[in-house]
Amino acid sequence: MPLTLYNTLHKKKEVFKPIKTVVSLYTCGPTVYNFAHIGNLRAYLFTDILKRVLLFNKYKVNHVMNITDVGHLSSDADEGEDKMTKGLKREGLPLTLKGMQKLADIYTKAFIKDCSSLHILPPNKLPRASQHIDEDIAFIQNLTKNEFAYKTSDGIYFDTSKSKDYGKLLGKKISKDTKKRIKTNSEKRQPQDFALWKFSKEFGWDTPFGKGFPGWHIECSVMASKYLGEQFDIHCGGKEHIPIHHTNEIAQSEANFGKSPWVNYWLHNEWLVLKDKEKMAKSGDNFITLQTLQDKEFEPLDYRYFCLGTSYRNPLMFSYEALDGARTARLKLFDKVHELKKSKHGDDNIIARQKYLDKFTDRINDDLNTPKALAVMWDVVKTDTLEDHDKLCVLLEFDKVLGFNLGNVKEDKAPEEVIDLAEKRGKARMQKDWKKSDELRDKINSLGWDIGDAADGYQLKKL
Ligand code: AMP
Ligand code: ZN
Repeated sequence: MPLTLYNTLHKKKEVFKPIKTVVSLYTCGPTVYNFAHIGNLRAYLFTDILKRVLLFNKYKVNHVMNITDVGHLSSDADEGEDKMTKGLKREGLPLTLKGMQKLADIYTKAFIKDCSSLHILPPNKLPRASQHIDEDIAFIQNLTKNEFAYKTSDGIYFDTSKSKDYGKLLGKKISKDTKKRIKTNSEKRQPQDFALWKFSKEFGWDTPFGKGFPGWHIECSVMASKYLGEQFDIHCGGKEHIPIHHTNEIAQSEANFGKSPWVNYWLHNEWLVLKDKEKMAKSGDNFITLQTLQDKEFEPLDYRYFCLGTSYRNPLMFSYEALDGARTARLKLFDKVHELKKSKHGDDNIIARQKYLDKFTDRINDDLNTPKALAVMWDVVKTDTLEDHDKLCVLLEFDKVLGFNLGNVKEDKAPEEVIDLAEKRGKARMQKDWKKSDELRDKINSLGWDIGDAADGYQLKKL
């Protein structure tokens, strides 16, 4: 099955055809004023699966993800505080560009660490917004020269009435609700006109049109085009970006380059939500980080498994019970792989393997259907039609997409204390002291390990 992707621009699944041989892919990166929460990480896990599926389909991929370290205002309304400024105040850092850099460094580092723990492949380029101010200026000057932009007392704005198909990504008229979100600033010509540059007396960059900061949307247009070209293949982000951020990126880029479409495929992930369907958000108090999960003894890969259990286009409800279920399944998979690794190598049965590879490819090429792909993976684990070494080969092939790093699965080594108890239990059993043996098993369990009997003694498994 050819790779098909749901394209928000046309509101349907489409067969993917790249412009050139190397696929150009852009992801809206994090605003680094705080730790990423697990909702944000869901968005990056989705992009990771997309990228891995492209690679699985033998495409080369040039993936760019930006770091927003300036200019993302608290509301999409071009009003409120810049999120980075908010972070500086929270952490007592100086309100200077240097302070901003320090804040960005801390949270960029934390973000990269989270992504790496989740086995998210790093992008080819991770450009920072603050290092592209000259390109922002040139972009804005060009828009101004061509009368797509105008100046007000608080910034330079894009005139959306000049864009002939403004809002096409949304596919319908910008709703009253969205207009309310982008509240009318009395000097704006249209409520949906948006800031390309915001003036700031406090601090910022000096430019020919005034001191201040770039707008958030311009950053993405500038960095995406600089590294991927004036037209490119795929742009992704969370679904809340459809009516404003991505709509505005399209309007200003198509105006600036005079080419349409700026991007051929727009992919959007649904949200991670909490029980009451509330979106997990950085500014809310429902903030769970990967570290929160690790503090509760979950592994980052449990969260990866949890996310893969639902299509990126469906909302995903977070709960610790559900995450626990994902952990059990992930551990079962790792145990199975470990077992398979111990079995002897036999003749390769390529035909039997191919049947499962085809099935997996069909599922994953159908708009990245990870839950169905996981089901094929379990079919392979359970089937009697594949020898162990064939099973392992097929699972390792699937893992190129699933990203659990099954090739490196090792049995957890029990700590000395647990081994000591296991040895004592062995002796108690030899002496037929079943009571003592049971007590020792309970102690082992209380340390988070299970003990079973094996032909050559005992086997310890993490609970
Ligand atoms: P931010 O750091 O706030 O700019 O967000 C980074 C990315 O995370 C964006 O693509 C958002 O759309 C995405 N995102 C934010 N909250 C959620 C959520 N609860 N579920 C899924 N994605 C989210
Ligand atoms: Zn963006």
